[in-house]
Amino acid sequence: MQHFDLIVIGGGQAGCSAALSAARQGVSVLLCEASGALGGAANVALVNPYMKYATYVEANGEQKRVELCAGIFREIHEALENDEVYGYTGKGTSFHEETMKVIFDRKMQEAGVTVLFHAKLCGVEREGRLIKSVTFATVGGNLTFTADSYIDATGDAIAIDLAGSLYHVGREGDNLCQPMTLCFRLGNVDVELYDKTRGRIDPVYRKLQAEGKLKNPREDVLIFHTRIPGVLHFNTTRIVKLDPTNPFDRSRAEMMAREQVVEMFHFLRDNFEAFRNADLLFTAAEIGVRESRMIDARHILTAEDLIAGTKFPDAIAAGNYDMDIHSPDGTGTSHHWFPEGFWYTIPYRSLLPRDLDNMAVAGRSVGSTHEAQAAIRIMPICSCMGEAAGMAAAIAREDGVCIADVDTDKLRARLVAVGAFVG
Ligand SMILES: Cc1cc2nc3c(=O)[nH]c(=O)nc-3n(C[C@H](O)[C@H](O)[C@H](O)COP(=O)(O)OP(=O)(O)OC[C@H]3O[C@@H](n4cnc5c(N)ncnc54)[C@H](O)[C@@H]3O)c2cc1C
Repeated sequence: MQHFDLIVIGGGQAGCSAALSAARQGVSVLLCEASGALGGAANVALVNPYMKYATYVEANGEQKRVELCAGIFREIHEALENDEVYGYTGKGTSFHEETMKVIFDRKMQEAGVTVLFHAKLCGVEREGRLIKSVTFATVGGNLTFTADSYIDATGDAIAIDLAGSLYHVGREGDNLCQPMTLCFRLGNVDVELYDKTRGRIDPVYRKLQAEGKLKNPREDVLIFHTRIPGVLHFNTTRIVKLDPTNPFDRSRAEMMAREQVVEMFHFLRDNFEAFRNADLLFTAAEIGVRESRMIDARHILTAEDLIAGTKFPDAIAAGNYDMDIHSPDGTGTSHHWFPEGFWYTIPYRSLLPRDLDNMAVAGRSVGSTHEAQAAIRIMPICSCMGEAAGMAAAIAREDGVCIADVDTDKLRARLVAVGAFVG
């Protein structure tokens, strides 16, 4: 049975950063990903762009930009902006996911990470507080590997679930999660005309919705520009009150969301000149899940922690993205905005399951409440949490301790030394 220093499960923003961070410190890393490319939701669910990760602080009468998500996130973001793969260069937070896939491929190879695609975690062997091995369903049958440390970066905390470790789902009271959304792209749009007439879309949408002619419960149409001429990105379908951890609910959600795409396509083509000749390019390979399992960590991050801007002594990441809650019930999106110059932090303890010592969790399933998760779930912050977890695995190896027992002062110092911001 092959052994690694670290096995990272899930190749999203968190998992990729974890793998790179650890491998660059000399750790032998196996990165297993269920799909055929790296990038996570940006790849499989077509999530785009990066949400807000910087703030402005006043210093000597001047506004200074502070990048709250730096380190590997910044490196990847810069590589996307200076796209040497396909040449889609330009500043900004939107990116080409095809470029991202190649950038991650190349960086993994440079760092010596062993990548296993089409490898779906399907078994976890546990003894007391330790994970002993993990098993993946692959095209070559089930493969089992062992490691000293493990990082669950599956977004859905699949390893945690299979290990029988504790977690919670959704908001307190009814366990409802934020909606699932199937993203899609339209091409051949007259984007110049769209920009001029954007304001007309939502009133017509709401009128038809009120008349029962549109089923999508979302309150408006959420559209983003892309780097490709004539192409717009849609993050606007909304599936509520289905449980993303229930495989039957998740399957239903895919079908329901596809019908919402059909509805939206005809709505736009039929009502707006800018979309008269629009083509549906594709829907995402998978519906996007904003929220599902969140681990019962050694510290559960709360809205109060974020609002107070708590600077935890073991902080390993920071952000000031708002608590952006797409209604789990139907219509509406609530926001708690944070002011410029302000940031909250995420403690290392929120990455650590209470009942396991050699597994950390990184990304959207860290220990938090529904409200706090609504802020820290964005891709830049997930990337930083992953970088921290990977560095922790490196320190665990050096110091001969479990990943849960690393010295957090050392962890923070090492992260800063490689360009991360820890708050
Ligand atoms: C519709 C939607 C819109 C969003 N909009 C934005 C936005 O505009 N900007 C922003 O910054 N954030 C946005 N987010 C949030 C953000 O995309 C996610 O929270 C973030 O990508 C989570 O990163 P992650 O690395 O934790 O997980 P993911 O990106 O979900 O990566 C997890 C990876 O694990 C893999 N995996 C899952 N199960 C297994 C298994 N059993 N075995 C092996 N691999 C497995 C998956 O294939 C995936 O590649 C949005 C989310 C959604 C759903």
